[in-house]
Amino acid sequence: MKVLLVGSGGREHALAWALSKSPLLAKLYCAPGNAGIAEVAECVPIPASDFAGLARFAVDARIDFAVIAADAQLVGGLWDALEAAGIRALGPSKAAAVLEGSKGFVKDLCIDAGIPTAAYMRFTAPEPAKAFADTLGHPVVIKADGLAAGKGVIIAASKAEADKAIDFMFEGGFGESGNAIVIEEFMEGEEASFFALSDGTHVVPLAGAQDHKRVGDGDVGPNTGGMGAYSPAPVLSPALQDVAMEKFIKPTVAAMKARGRPYMGVLYLGLMITKDGPKLVEYNARFGDPECQVLMPRLKSDLLAALLAARDGKQTPLEWRDEVALTVVMASQGYPGAYEKGHVITGLDEAAAMPGITIFHAGTEKRGNDIVAVGGRVLNVTALGKDVAEAQARAYAAVAKIRWQGAFCRHDIGWRALAKRQAG
Ligand code: AMP
Repeated sequence: MKVLLVGSGGREHALAWALSKSPLLAKLYCAPGNAGIAEVAECVPIPASDFAGLARFAVDARIDFAVIAADAQLVGGLWDALEAAGIRALGPSKAAAVLEGSKGFVKDLCIDAGIPTAAYMRFTAPEPAKAFADTLGHPVVIKADGLAAGKGVIIAASKAEADKAIDFMFEGGFGESGNAIVIEEFMEGEEASFFALSDGTHVVPLAGAQDHKRVGDGDVGPNTGGMGAYSPAPVLSPALQDVAMEKFIKPTVAAMKARGRPYMGVLYLGLMITKDGPKLVEYNARFGDPECQVLMPRLKSDLLAALLAARDGKQTPLEWRDEVALTVVMASQGYPGAYEKGHVITGLDEAAAMPGITIFHAGTEKRGNDIVAVGGRVLNVTALGKDVAEAQARAYAAVAKIRWQGAFCRHDIGWRALAKRQAG
């Protein structure tokens, strides 16, 4: 089969790496890709935002199956554009990607389907929103309804902060995404993600993971896209994984079908494990980044076959390795703010040859014979190990071989899992 993967980050490199191992694959294209993806796919210089260009390329290159990895494309309707051009693709459709595209839609669905989540209300004007926020006490959570590049959630510690956040959103701080907002109760607990794959009617579990959103060691500093992750997540016990499937994911897939928006694709469930049990934080309509980078090394089954089966309604359970995968994100100094681009990266081959290591590229470009850093998040140094301690030691041993001017990473990826092991 000829397959087209859309995107250019570390998640897409992990997907390309897993797809490239499929016996069903004849040729893998990636648009636009990066220097790491180019090792396993032919990169084509079409931006992920150019839906018409992608559809034209897919038809001309006789693509048999397309994989769309990122929220903006799914919520924007790339699946619909490709399928309209006669290209089979992994969704969800635009109508079903509303699970990521509207936080208010998800909260209403939770109420209808009996899915546990934080108390909330939806607003389209600031004054009633402020009045409701006051009734919840502080901290209180203010969310832009639409996609806001991962920045649309503000946790306000006081009334002054809450009022400011509400005004900011209605004044267009997050563009149109903030024309409607959700105010919700703050949940205390440990967060974890669980992934499943749905064909619109049936759903198979994938695996769980935990990431590290803050930029600094000890979970301090600004939020990022994610500085590292591991899978499995010890907090997601087998019993909790059953709850994730039975009480969250299956009712959601059924509710989406009943609403005429059948959900086909990867479903990312963000959970808060509170003292009253697990509650939904959010849904995403795709794999997480960097969670995907720790799921793919653990997947024993053929990824391409699994994704095709979801598209065609013929799913079977997947097999996973028992080993732990852990990824450390190496970033450019300044990230998540402004950072320098164009510094040459050294030590990649030596690091990649170490035991259990796979390096996924997130923000790299090939210039002549050099690989240079061009993103905030640049590399995902990923290790498999018999347990989290071994995976962590292997990942950091490989990180130590890699250099570029201004490179940094967190030094404590996996700390929650290690603490649980030591405690248990
Ligand atoms: P979201 O985009 O909805 O995942 O929110 C981003 C992050 O904000 C989550 O990963 C949580 O860390 C935090 N968050 C969102 N909603 C809540 C909530 N109700 N209580 C506590 N933290 C939350």
